[in-house]
Amino acid sequence: MIKRRRYYAMPEMDRMSLEEIEIYQAKKLVKQLRYCYDNSSFYKKKFDEIGAKPEDITTIDALRKLPIFMTKDTERRLAKESLEKYGHPFGIHLCADVKKVYLTGTTSGTTGTPTFTYTFTKKDLNFIGKNLGHRFKFIGVSPGERVLFFFALGVYATTMTLWGLRFIGALPIDIDARAGTDILLQFAQLTKPNYLACTPSLAEYLIDKAPKVINKDVSSFNLKGLLLTGEIGIAIPEIKKKLEDAYKCKTYDYWAPAGNALGVSCGFDEYQGLHALSPNVCTSYQDLVDPITKEPIEIKDGAIGEMVHTSLEREACPAIKYAYGDVVEIFTSECPGCGFKGIRAKIIGRSDDMLIVKGVNVYPAAIKKIVTDFRPKVTGEMRIVLSDPPPRVTPPLKLKIEYGIGVEKSQLESLAKEIAEELHDKIKINPDVTLVPPGTFEKSTHKTPIFEKLYNKK
Ligand SMILES: [Zn+2]
Repeated sequence: MIKRRRYYAMPEMDRMSLEEIEIYQAKKLVKQLRYCYDNSSFYKKKFDEIGAKPEDITTIDALRKLPIFMTKDTERRLAKESLEKYGHPFGIHLCADVKKVYLTGTTSGTTGTPTFTYTFTKKDLNFIGKNLGHRFKFIGVSPGERVLFFFALGVYATTMTLWGLRFIGALPIDIDARAGTDILLQFAQLTKPNYLACTPSLAEYLIDKAPKVINKDVSSFNLKGLLLTGEIGIAIPEIKKKLEDAYKCKTYDYWAPAGNALGVSCGFDEYQGLHALSPNVCTSYQDLVDPITKEPIEIKDGAIGEMVHTSLEREACPAIKYAYGDVVEIFTSECPGCGFKGIRAKIIGRSDDMLIVKGVNVYPAAIKKIVTDFRPKVTGEMRIVLSDPPPRVTPPLKLKIEYGIGVEKSQLESLAKEIAEELHDKIKINPDVTLVPPGTFEKSTHKTPIFEKLYNKK
C-alpha cells in the first residue's frame, strides 16, 4: 500500500507530533470541561467532589489522573433520574436545552436497558458527521458511491454511520437487518453497490447463502470493499482471508459508536488495528485504565486497558471520564501498512466479558481468535462454559469447540490437546477442551453468544 499524505480528519494534524496533538486537545478540553461544569449538575458535582475546577485540567496527562466519572450503570441511573425529574431520557448529564436535541441513538441493549449515549444537537451532528465521514474517505469511499448498509436501523447507534456516509457524498442504501438476508441479496442485485457494510458474521453467512438464494456467489457483487463492525472479525487472519477470498475485495473494520472512539483499519494485507483519525473529537485512545481496579495505565506501544472516553467538542451529552467497557491494545508505532503515525488500537474484548482464571485476565475474544486459527480443523464456533457468574472462574476453564467437517473421531484427542497447548502458550491458561460435532451451535447472523451460562439454569 502506498503511504498517503492525508490521514487525520483535521489536515493540520498530519504535520503535528503526538505531543503537539495533545497540546491542541488540551486547549479544547478545558473549554469542554468548563461547559460541562456550567451546564450539568452531574458534572459540577463530580468536580466538586474531587475538589477540582475544569481550569485545573490543563493537560491530557492531568485528565488521565482524574477518577472515572461514569460507567454504563451510572448512565442508566442518570437516564432514570432525568426521566423522573424532567421527563426526558437523555440523562441529567445533558448539557444542552432538551429542545435543542436534534438526533438521538441508543446502544443496542444486548447487555441491558439501552441508553441514549448518542444524543446530539444539530451542531454536534455537523461536527461528528464530518469526522464519521472522514473515516470512509480515508479508505477510499468516494462521492456518488453506493454503500449497501445492513444493520438494525432506527434508534440504534449503528445508524449514525449513515450521517457520515452522506456527509462525504456517498449514497447509503439502508436496509434494516431485521428484514432478513433474502431482501439484502435482492437489493444487492437491484442496486449494484460499491461497498457492503454489515457485521463480519453476516458477511461470512452470505458466502453460503448467496448461491442458494440468487444462484450467484458473493464475488458477483463486484464490491470494492466490505465495511465491517460490531464484532472482532478481520482482526482474526482466518476470517479476513476467508472474506477477501470469497468477495474478492478489501475488508475494513470501523468502530461503530459515533462520537466516542472513531477509528477505521487501513486495508493493509495484515490487519493493523483501528486508526485514530480524529483526536479532535475525543481522547479515548489516550486514556486507559485497568478494567477491574480502574487505575490509569501508561500509554505506550502494546498497552492493554479499558478505554476511557472524554469528548472534546460535544454540546448535548458530552462524555467525560466515561469507562464504557471496551478493552483495547494500543499501538503508538507507525503503521507498517499505510504509514499512519498516530495511535492505533485493536479491540481485545469487553470488560464485562473478562474472566479471571488463576489471577490471569482472559478475554473471550482472545480465546476465540486462537481457536479460529485452527480452521479448518475446527469450524470456529465455540462456547465458554461458565458454572458461576464471571469474572472469577474456578479452573480449569471449560471450552466446547466444534471440530471441523471431515475430522476423524480418532483425531479428536490429539486436536483437543493441540488447542489446549496453544491456549496455554499464548494466553497462559490450561483449559478443559471438549470437541463437539460441527453444527452443534446455532450460527447467528447477529452477535454470536460466546458463553454457555450454566448458572442461569440452576
Ligand atoms: Zn495503516
